[in-house]
Amino acid sequence: MSEIRRLGVLTSGGDGPGMNPAIRAVARTALEHKMTPVGIRRGYQGLLDNDMENMTARSVGGTIQRGGTVLGTVRSPAFLTPRGRLDALHNLSANGVDALVIIGGDGSMRGAIELHKLGLPVIGIPSSIDNDMYGTEMSIGVDTALNTLLRSIDMIKDTASSHQRAFPIEAMGRNCGYLGLMGAIAGGAEMALIPEVPFTLDEVLINLQNAYIKGKAHCIIVVAEGASYKADTIKAYLDERKEETGFDSRVTILGHVQRGGAPSAFDRILATRLGWRPWRSYWPASAA
Ligand code: ADP
Repeated sequence: MSEIRRLGVLTSGGDGPGMNPAIRAVARTALEHKMTPVGIRRGYQGLLDNDMENMTARSVGGTIQRGGTVLGTVRSPAFLTPRGRLDALHNLSANGVDALVIIGGDGSMRGAIELHKLGLPVIGIPSSIDNDMYGTEMSIGVDTALNTLLRSIDMIKDTASSHQRAFPIEAMGRNCGYLGLMGAIAGGAEMALIPEVPFTLDEVLINLQNAYIKGKAHCIIVVAEGASYKADTIKAYLDERKEETGFDSRVTILGHVQRGGAPSAFDRILATRLGWRPWRSYWPASAA
């Protein structure tokens, strides 16, 4: 592989805590190896719009503790077309960018593969709060999102015990039940409803009745985003049968709260390692 002098870095797809530490590690490691990091704004769309600029060590100063991404991210339908990807490649070449680091989720990695097929050296850094990425045990952002979910479960549990109530709590995760399941285990929830295990509303009702028989003061039901039924549907079903269960119910949908916040120590360290790591494994020619 020819020498890499200018290295592009972008964040793409759904944002998550830990993207900033990853950008920071990529930029600073590039500088360490005498390359110029080039920050591309708003993901693949920034490649199409020629929205990029050289970074210095100072460009990423004070970002390690910040949630979101300083480079911004959008979803780019134009990049999905072969024409869009050729335009992206053309702009990279016009800016003298020899290689690209892509920080993002599943879809972003598919985009990375397409660029690689066109001959561009690329490295993908898995960042997704859903933990749904093939070949990756833990992606950046998962730990922070899980802790946010856990804090919410703990708080809801406090209020839930004061009344006899069932609390369906909807967690993010798309089609992956990781966040929901781990949140339920760590939070001591009574039920975890995840996409990987289909269920009926009747089964939820039976579990709730069992909780009542066991004398539980509350019933926390963590509902992962892609589960067979949404939290609202579960609530409506339970409310119709309030007399049988003895439990009133209240729904909490956490939504984008789980995407925000300062990255946890685990996510900062993972992001820093992944931002630094590629130099040793994949680009020995560039690593002095
Ligand atoms: P995430 O990376 O969080 O999974 P998306 O699935 O929205 O988010 O993907 C982010 C971007 O990656 C898309 O807007 C699109 O530009 C690009 N992308 C997704 N899938 C492909 C694909 N199959 N080929 C090329 N680009 C893709």
